[in-house]
Amino acid sequence: MVAHPYSEILFRRARQLFPGGVNSPVRAFKAVGGTPLFLRQGNGSHVFDVDGNGYIDFVGSWGPLILGHCHPQVTEAIVAAVREGISFGAPTPRESTLAELAQEAFPHIQKIRFVSSGTEAVMSAIRVARAFTGRDHIIKFSGCYHGHADSLLVKAGSGLATFGTPSSPGVPPSLAEKTLTARYNNLADVESLVAAHADSVACLIVEPIAGNMGCVPPQPGFLAGLREICTRRGIVFIIDEVMTGFRVAFGGAQELYEVRGDLVCLGKIIGGGMPVGAFGGKEEIMNLLAPEGAVYQAGTLSGNPVAMAAGIATLKILKELKPYRQLEQKGAFLTDGLQALIHRYPYLCIQRVGSMFCLYFRPAPVRSFEDAISSDTKTFARFFHLMLDQGIYLPPAQFEACFISTAHEQQDLEHFLDAAERSFKTLWE
Ligand SMILES: *Cc1c(COP(=O)(O)O)cnc(C)c1O
Repeated sequence: MVAHPYSEILFRRARQLFPGGVNSPVRAFKAVGGTPLFLRQGNGSHVFDVDGNGYIDFVGSWGPLILGHCHPQVTEAIVAAVREGISFGAPTPRESTLAELAQEAFPHIQKIRFVSSGTEAVMSAIRVARAFTGRDHIIKFSGCYHGHADSLLVKAGSGLATFGTPSSPGVPPSLAEKTLTARYNNLADVESLVAAHADSVACLIVEPIAGNMGCVPPQPGFLAGLREICTRRGIVFIIDEVMTGFRVAFGGAQELYEVRGDLVCLGKIIGGGMPVGAFGGKEEIMNLLAPEGAVYQAGTLSGNPVAMAAGIATLKILKELKPYRQLEQKGAFLTDGLQALIHRYPYLCIQRVGSMFCLYFRPAPVRSFEDAISSDTKTFARFFHLMLDQGIYLPPAQFEACFISTAHEQQDLEHFLDAAERSFKTLWE
């Protein structure tokens, strides 16, 4: 057992201050038990806790850190920006630079707006889609998480899946009933919702690869089918690439699967580890936003110059380095290795797209949230702690995606596989 007495002391203190001791629920280790580690430092593929233990990190700050911790160019860009001023609340050139980089990745973004989180990006995209169509209903998929805005906390996967609450108290039923849910990878569900709510659906939002119920790729034809239904019915198609944008390809899942949304939501990697979100797309929709139009949306720290600098540095490196083939190879090495083990331990299923993956404690493939929830979360919790004790830091819940960064080296991946094999032996032999 790795000891972490100082983390325990700090968690006791934090519990006096924060509900559950944390500022975002899944950090609390509730799904796996034990004390969350207080982290002090990151370096490349590694994180170090306050007790001085080192771990190979497969959380990557839940997605943003595709270049690993403290990439020198990103750090330098942030420090240089800080020296020039932390915030102005006035236009700065960096906003346009980052917007142009986002446009290169997503050429169908004609206009974009920066916000400070993925939640804000999605919440605002939905507002403008409702205004554009003059309709109220939205369609989402069970198990897809789009941040914690009221309308979207209905069957929302991720932390909610972990805590077994399909939806959140505090969301007025009158609002929740405007959110219609379909099963992921199920076009027939969408067709029947659309038929039952003819001409009242404003938008449909999807995670193009569902990463908040593990890692669930779209079945062939699923995204194209959604595109077709939205076009046919005049529904705004919102593709939430907060996790997948710049992750599975520079142009996200839309590049990978050759599909285009009317609006795109971005977050995580676009801020290079700083709080940035963005939404953008068709000009005719985006121009409804104030001050061009009447749909109100604003933010004191939106487009913050330091956050923009981190995003610019990160996207520039990704654009030049083109690491996606290399990330695919690393991912394949890891999941091929796991697949070989699964032969011996047929209680598992591994799913991956590029550098995001999930090891489900369930023998059959996961195509929807309804599949995912039959995973053996108790055994996952034991596995999580066995891995942690061997220096592997995984997301502390079954329904979260693991991430590989450009900083992970061959020996890190081999360490992961060795630790997994030992953990499986402990669990099942
Ligand atoms: C993380 C995430 C969000 C929410 O982003 P925050 O920055 O945590 O508010 C929204 N959508 C998806 C797909 C995400 O993965």
